[in-house]
Amino acid sequence: MNDPLASWHADTRVLHDDDAFADGPDVVPPIHYSATFRARDAADFADMAGRPRHPAYYTRYGNPVHERVAAILAGLEGTETALLTGSGMGAISTAVLALVSAGDHVVAQTRHYMSTAKLLDEVLPRFGVETTLVEQSDAEALRDAIRPNTKLIMLETPANPTLVLTDLAAVAPMARARGITTVCDNTFASPLNQQPHALGIDVVVHSATKLLGGHHDLTAGAICCSHALAEPIWRMHTTLGSVLSPMDAWLLLRGLRTLAVRVARINASALELARWLQQQAQVERVHYPGLESHPQHALAQAQMKGGGPVIAFAIKGDYAVTSRFVAALELPKHAVSLGGVDSLIVHAAAMWAGTMNDAQMEAADIAPNFVRFSVGLEHPDDLKADLARALAAALRERG
Ligand SMILES: *Cc1c(COP(=O)(O)O)cnc(C)c1O
Repeated sequence: MNDPLASWHADTRVLHDDDAFADGPDVVPPIHYSATFRARDAADFADMAGRPRHPAYYTRYGNPVHERVAAILAGLEGTETALLTGSGMGAISTAVLALVSAGDHVVAQTRHYMSTAKLLDEVLPRFGVETTLVEQSDAEALRDAIRPNTKLIMLETPANPTLVLTDLAAVAPMARARGITTVCDNTFASPLNQQPHALGIDVVVHSATKLLGGHHDLTAGAICCSHALAEPIWRMHTTLGSVLSPMDAWLLLRGLRTLAVRVARINASALELARWLQQQAQVERVHYPGLESHPQHALAQAQMKGGGPVIAFAIKGDYAVTSRFVAALELPKHAVSLGGVDSLIVHAAAMWAGTMNDAQMEAADIAPNFVRFSVGLEHPDDLKADLARALAAALRERG
């Protein structure tokens, strides 16, 4: 659905890739707030009921607003099509469960979004699917983990908490040569910064709750892939039922209109702030793919157009100092999530304390003095001033 428009820039595509679906005088499309849709006649009903991914039969199967959002996302990711789900986890669970069966093996990363890790570690084994977790920065190790029954390679880059990257162009061909399907979670980058499909990845999944929606107001997910893969994934979707409401699909469509300008601004601010943080005496280390000091900076340059919203950094202090620093900030809100208009910050060790013990946190690189900062659209000078004040306040109280 995207090829004829391939010459447009992303800035234009987010506004016009869905023009073909306009059917009224509206400049802004209506919210098709309907769970079910009327047939014109018997033949039309037979078509609606029998055609997979019909956009106006029953909203769990599809919705006219979904169709517009999907056209834009498929265009941005360079895939034939896209499916929408009610959350990022809805997208990931649906795609994974559609692609594996009992007896299959999955290769995945040691670092994944926590709920993805649970799907791989806790849910799949209950259905007879085994997963091998591999250090993602080592493409050779990913290849060595492949077994004759490996069906799926699950990837995510950049990944929490230290923004480690996976070399997509190295992994994709070795999977393809063996007939293994690759899935990449592209949430932290967005298609503006990274296009996994162009590097050979089969299925690109998103938490559209983050950069794509961009305003911290909706929960949504997306699966971008070929028509051939969309078919079984859509069938699983109609069974699992992770449905995106027409209202949230419409909010997502509105968010997408500004995606290109938001991501450009967020990339620039985040890089500026990452460089600035690196120079602060109270900061121990900064992880950001756009920084020359990132251990995989060359890979970041090759595979990403921008570093995205998330900076992880450690401050020179213990858990208590880090807690005080986060509490002292006025601009970044103390909240999980990322990629929206508001800057958000979380104290990583506090975030994962309820679900991991100390040994697990150490294994996952989550130091007690570590924060995850999602840069929003505030002016970077104002963010710097706030960060500087909070760092000084947190460390002053230490004595
Ligand atoms: C948030 C997130 C998810 C899950 O998305 P939801 O919309 O919260 O279900 C998956 N992967 C990554 C990388 C995320 O950041």
